[in-house]
Amino acid sequence: MTEKIYYKDQYVKEFTAEVVACQKGERGFEVILDKTAFFPEGGGQPGDTGFIGGVEVIDTVESGDDVVHICASEVSGRVECKLDFDKRFANMQQHTGEHIISGFIHAMTGFDNVGFHMGEHSVTVDFNGVVTREQLEEAERLSNEAVYKNLPVNALYPSDEELVNYDYRSKKEIKGQVRLTSIEGVDLCACCGTHVAYTGEIGIIKAVSMMNYKQGVRITLQIGRKAFEDYCEKNKNVLRISNLLKAKPEEVADAVERVQAQMQEMRFRYTQLKKNYFELYAQDCDGDKCCLFDDSGSADDARMLCDILADKAFVAAVFSGNDEIGYKYAVASRTYDVRKVAKELNSCCAGRGGGTPQMVQGSLATYRDMIECCWREIELNDD
Ligand SMILES: [Zn+2]
Repeated sequence: MTEKIYYKDQYVKEFTAEVVACQKGERGFEVILDKTAFFPEGGGQPGDTGFIGGVEVIDTVESGDDVVHICASEVSGRVECKLDFDKRFANMQQHTGEHIISGFIHAMTGFDNVGFHMGEHSVTVDFNGVVTREQLEEAERLSNEAVYKNLPVNALYPSDEELVNYDYRSKKEIKGQVRLTSIEGVDLCACCGTHVAYTGEIGIIKAVSMMNYKQGVRITLQIGRKAFEDYCEKNKNVLRISNLLKAKPEEVADAVERVQAQMQEMRFRYTQLKKNYFELYAQDCDGDKCCLFDDSGSADDARMLCDILADKAFVAAVFSGNDEIGYKYAVASRTYDVRKVAKELNSCCAGRGGGTPQMVQGSLATYRDMIECCWREIELNDD
């Protein structure tokens, strides 16, 4: 059984230990020490990393009463051990912060935290009921107040008899000694993870998003150092948008709305102008068959122009593109079934496409000369 230093003092970063076992496993060498400060993965908290005797520890997991360090190579004898404590401390901040906000949400709604995950960039907690935005904001406010109060975070090990007197949150049924993490007036929860000693060490607790998940909600949190990093990243983005839009940082959302409205207006005007231009372009088009070439390569433009042409000619076609990229086409008529025309075009010009008797759209992988030649050849008939 490994002596677990992290339960006596969660701040131990370096220690000396004796290698008890070392054997090759699937992910590396599985090393067991007589004592360890490396926390093994559990309760949603990832396993610690660092070095044992100068060898990299990739992960730490639990195996019965032992803690198994997954190492990059073999180690033996008496070894100097060093944790990646920046990472561990961020985990402690996140874990404790999650207790606080989950405690307030539970007290407010009665819902339980039924899923907890500490990811590389954020923490997610799942509740088995729908938390409202107002409740979440209030829980967030109370959580940060609890941080400012710098309350002690204690570990309690009650006996079975004592345990019945405690009203605590628990994620699952626990066998053996129950370890309760207590923050007075805030939360009491059965948990095997590592936590900071005082809430003031956590820093900010911020719910960045909430979405419906299963029967309840999934809340994404930014806590402690990760929250600071997240703030820096978001601030950088807001300043960038602020510069691009020449707007004050606190007014960028309004500025984006204005830009969107302007774009919508411009898109509308552009479409109107294009229509006017197409009307002019189509003015000399008449007779039985009429075709025009447009170099935009846009299927939408081809359709719009062709629709205008169809008011002037019996059968109208628009070919949009150039010899390099090929052509998008549209064929339209108010009274003639243009699917017959399209069929001939497709077979003559390596094309594909389809549509209704009134309008067919498609593409042709050929040259303009070839298209013009095919177009001339097409005969319209009434059968
Ligand atoms: Zn915990």
